[in-house]
Amino acid sequence: MSAMQPMLDPSLPGQAGPLSLTLLLRNLPGAVYRCHNDRDWTIEFISEGVEKLTGYSAAAFTARPGMAFGSIILPEDRASVDSAVALALAQGRAYQMTYRIRTAGGEIRWVCEQGALNLTNGRPGMLEGFLSDFTRLKLADLKMLEQASFLQRARDAIIAMDMYSTITYWNQGAERLYGWSAPEALGRRFCDLLCDKPALYEEAFRHTLQNSEWSGELSHVRRDGSTVETDTSWTLLGPDNTLGACQKILVIGTDISERKLNESRIFRLAYFDHLTELPNRANLLDHLRRALLGSARTRKFGALMFCDLDNFKFLNDSWGHATGDELLQAVARRLEHCVREADMVARLGGDEFVVLIQPVEDSRELAASQAETVAAKVVAALAAPFQLGELNYSVSVSIGVVTLCGTHDTVESALRQADAAMYQAKAAGRNTFRFHDPAVQAAWSARAELEGGLRRALQHDEFVLHYQPQLDRSGRVIGAEALLRWRLPNGRVLYPAEFIAVAEESGIIIDIGSWVLRTACAELARWQRMPEMAGLTLSVNVSARQFIEADFVSMLQAIFEHSGVQPSGLKLELTESLVITDFTQTAHTMTTLKRRGLSFSLDDFGTGYSSLATLRKLPLDQLKIDHSFMRDVLTDHNDASIVRSIIALGDSLGLQVIAEGVETMGQRQFLSDAGCHIYQGFLYQCALSAEHFTQYARGVH
Ligand code: C2E
Ligand code: MG
Ligand code: MG
Repeated sequence: MSAMQPMLDPSLPGQAGPLSLTLLLRNLPGAVYRCHNDRDWTIEFISEGVEKLTGYSAAAFTARPGMAFGSIILPEDRASVDSAVALALAQGRAYQMTYRIRTAGGEIRWVCEQGALNLTNGRPGMLEGFLSDFTRLKLADLKMLEQASFLQRARDAIIAMDMYSTITYWNQGAERLYGWSAPEALGRRFCDLLCDKPALYEEAFRHTLQNSEWSGELSHVRRDGSTVETDTSWTLLGPDNTLGACQKILVIGTDISERKLNESRIFRLAYFDHLTELPNRANLLDHLRRALLGSARTRKFGALMFCDLDNFKFLNDSWGHATGDELLQAVARRLEHCVREADMVARLGGDEFVVLIQPVEDSRELAASQAETVAAKVVAALAAPFQLGELNYSVSVSIGVVTLCGTHDTVESALRQADAAMYQAKAAGRNTFRFHDPAVQAAWSARAELEGGLRRALQHDEFVLHYQPQLDRSGRVIGAEALLRWRLPNGRVLYPAEFIAVAEESGIIIDIGSWVLRTACAELARWQRMPEMAGLTLSVNVSARQFIEADFVSMLQAIFEHSGVQPSGLKLELTESLVITDFTQTAHTMTTLKRRGLSFSLDDFGTGYSSLATLRKLPLDQLKIDHSFMRDVLTDHNDASIVRSIIALGDSLGLQVIAEGVETMGQRQFLSDAGCHIYQGFLYQCALSAEHFTQYARGVH
């Protein structure tokens, strides 16, 4: 190598002082070489830098016989080095490659070699090039590659998007999780591709911009349209030099569908009964506790019902547990149909079920009434036979009911009391329900008795109509109001105040009302056959519930035909509540009946809320001043004004005005002065039996 030095030793042009090429080569971070293009690449010259690179001196390579440079290349890299050089030479171009060598000290180093075949000056046919230590860069490069491949192959979905939410990076994890390949996803908008709830996505985006990060659970839409739950973290990156000037959002999503599924499985195991899939005891207690807390806050009332199947043990013992299980499952389904969506049916175990009626009622009575409705539904729902395989089985249920109020009751007391009431139901002969609260139970029993009595009264003809005369200003009887009385078998007579409300609530009023109309029309037809009474009108009270029945008109028509009555003698008394309930239907029915000759009176006028505009649109004939105004009409200035206004109103609307509850001459005088047309009240007569009324009407007539 020293032999080469004079040839390579001119001063460099353009330098302030003479700089020897030797010095330059020595300082180079690498080694310049020239070698033969033979198999061993026999080195003819290599600069001193080779010692720093390989640990072997330059002389070690240039000595004859010297060390072949190829011998320090790692055997596994040798073949690729050879072929890279051979290929480059064959193509007539420079070569460049990186490979590993083992240094004199045994260390492995990366070398970068660049070279070419010298074809021109110097010694053509030799290879000349430069070797440099590439270890640091190579390792950094490898590390980057490794990191990139980690990102690429990570289990999680890793996505980057720019500030326009355009996807700029999409790893294999994202491909696996969302089903879109990287080429399909890149360039698309994140939200368009993945979001099923854009509002949540926008919130995450906004939060990330403000706080540099966001994390939470998001569900994303997959390529196949299914959704996947992910635990997602968003991080705002940049702007920095490594990423260029733009900011990006790095989104890392972990598939938590499995975890969610497991969580929901665990939740179901912990809170649901595995046989019937109804909420279990723990779930019920949780809901009951919350219901009581809510009730304490809102002051509303709910109820808890303990339902225990009667004689379930018998089925289990005689038909086996599989049949018993089948029944429990079928019972669970029927029970679910008996409650509102917000209410809850739970299974405590065995054949014990519990219904929780949410506290939404304004009073204990209303909650009891709601519970009673549900209990009756449950009894009826379970009464239909169950088909259990071959077996056609009927089951009954005993139910204990307790009303709930958060300010008084606790979870424990409610459960205990409902349970105790259930035993009372069993003791009362099963297939029934009992309230725990003594007052509620007493009221309920009385009501149930009354309801039963009303049905019996219809069958046994215990109802009668009495007729209270209505007179005009000259004292002439112009008609009567039919008023219902219930004559009990023991001779006691009950008045409507004692039973009409229950009849309305239970729906029996429909049958009672039909009876009233039949009886009233038969009586009116009888009057119409007597010359002295033919011109009288008969007013009949009709419940709102009955008036809006779809077949009300046809039912009346049938009665007219059967009784042969002239409908023009019939006046129906309606209440303001009816008008408010269903104005359109009411007006339609009224118009239809009016065409048949009937007339209408608005009863208890002044106590309701009907507007003048509404009144004007109805084909009314008469306003009936409620008797509550009459009592103090002579002493109470307000009552007096109201009565005067009603009469004036009737006049202006062209309606007749009748006053009921007229008890004294003073009241009669007041009404007469105010211009009232017709009077009804104890001053003249109370309601009379049909026979007495006929005598009265004929006598006074
Ligand atoms: P209503 O239609 O306002 O009937 C007037 C009520 O006032 C009747 O009570 C009558 O006996 C009473 N009354 C009559 N004159 C006087 C009086 O001078 N002073 C006082 N203090 N009261 C008097 P009743 O017969 O007990 O009826 C009560 C309510 O029951 C009726 O009020 C009506 O809403 C309802 N009702 C009666 N019969 C029937 C019916 O057949 N069907 C329906 N749906 N409801 C009926
Ligand atoms: Mg009336
Ligand atoms: Mg009235």
